[in-house]
Amino acid sequence: MRTRRRLLVANWKMTRTPSAAAALARALVAIPRPLEVDLVIAPSFPALDRVGAALSGTGIALAAQDVYVEKEGAFTGEVSASMLKDAGVALVLVGHSERRLLRGEREPDFARKMERLAEQGLTPVYCVGETRAERDAGRTVDVLRNQLAALDGFSAPPPGLTLAYEPVWAIGTSLPATPSMAADVHARLRAEIAARFGPGAAALTRILYGGSVSLASAPGLFAEAEVDGGLVGGASLVAKDVMALLAAAAAPTTGAARA
Ligand code: PGA
Repeated sequence: MRTRRRLLVANWKMTRTPSAAAALARALVAIPRPLEVDLVIAPSFPALDRVGAALSGTGIALAAQDVYVEKEGAFTGEVSASMLKDAGVALVLVGHSERRLLRGEREPDFARKMERLAEQGLTPVYCVGETRAERDAGRTVDVLRNQLAALDGFSAPPPGLTLAYEPVWAIGTSLPATPSMAADVHARLRAEIAARFGPGAAALTRILYGGSVSLASAPGLFAEAEVDGGLVGGASLVAKDVMALLAAAAAPTTGAARA
């Protein structure tokens, strides 16, 4: 019996114009979905409005791919948490490795982003994960612990806190982590959350796996009791593939709880 609802977050990255994103959202709305899995779509900022309209009343939630660290003001080109909330966004990705690598964002930035989200009651999907070199050097646990330092300023978990374990070496490479690798890391992340916020909060925190989740890899990964669903890039861009991923997420757990 699962204690947490399963969740699939579709990260469309910078791949769809607003019209194409709205068309894909309408296709997703039309597919039959298992009731036991929550589905969330994260399109680009300019597509939020049209995708949000397509999702309205369907139970599929809207997410944003980023938020700015400040509340409001003269920050040309940036988007605030209050703007996202007003646009109907419920969840926001924070700490994605593409922002770590390409934009040089670090834990202090993510801490501020999660504070802004908490002020608006928005849920962060905080992404963590090691590089191949860090894994090979046996530093995975240390790296993840350092990344979780973005939560240091919180005495209670941010609203709806959701983590995504995304090993950098697995993103967009067709080389996902194995189910047991993911389960092992998820159990460690949950233990870290328990140490910070207590076992009750840890038991409620959804921990997604991301990085080359595909029709082939999803069933094994999602069968792990520690894996509460996925943060999916490439495989979330085709409606019938999303249907298959949702079915995999809805399937019963076979992996042992390793917490
Ligand atoms: P991928 O991306 O599923 O295309 O590997 C996942 C992510 O970056 O969130």
